Amino acid sequence: MVSNTDAMKVLSVHDNDAAFHIHFMKLAIEQANLSAPVPSGYCVGAVLVQETHQDPDSDIPQEDRFRVVTTGYSRELPGNTHAEECCLLKLPSIIDPELGTAEIESALDEKALAATKAHRPKKEWIMYSTMEPCSTRLSGNRSCSDRLIESGVRRVYVGVREPDHFVKTVVGVENMVKQGIDVVYIPGLEKECLAPNQHVLAPSS
Ligand SMILES: [Zn+2]
Repeated sequence: MVSNTDAMKVLSVHDNDAAFHIHFMKLAIEQANLSAPVPSGYCVGAVLVQETHQDPDSDIPQEDRFRVVTTGYSRELPGNTHAEECCLLKLPSIIDPELGTAEIESALDEKALAATKAHRPKKEWIMYSTMEPCSTRLSGNRSCSDRLIESGVRRVYVGVREPDHFVKTVVGVENMVKQGIDVVYIPGLEKECLAPNQHVLAPSS
């Protein structure tokens, strides 16, 4: 269910960094809007951020404490790639922006996945995703929640839970929470997160 936030923490307006988390989720929404709609998938956006200094009481200005590392959106990279997957695969050490399509395709093979693990994000890395990272892929590919668990990302902010249109029981949030990832729901942006998905959720007849 899209509205079921029981398994997650909820971002509080009293969180000192609330404005930053909302800012990064809005960047993720911009990414989702770049995704070309297909009947078989959602349009999701994701942003991977590094929290460079974790003490909110330090003298370091808030805007210097967070740095966008990569962004991603559904099907951005060749194949049926997901937004969070693209973020991880686009880590600068994995994919050079100068590479051509054929080279990127070859970088998506298992060898590259092993390399992703080797260069995996440090614990202070945070993922923002407009939609709950998936737990089951009808294609049989590895799920984004599993990829995030393996990557070592410390916290994941989500805009909405995955609707049950393709997969009936989605447990991406539960999977990540079980493995010690902080999963935080950002309320108030549901409409913008779902807007790029009307081709699936409310197709015109
Ligand atoms: Zn996914």
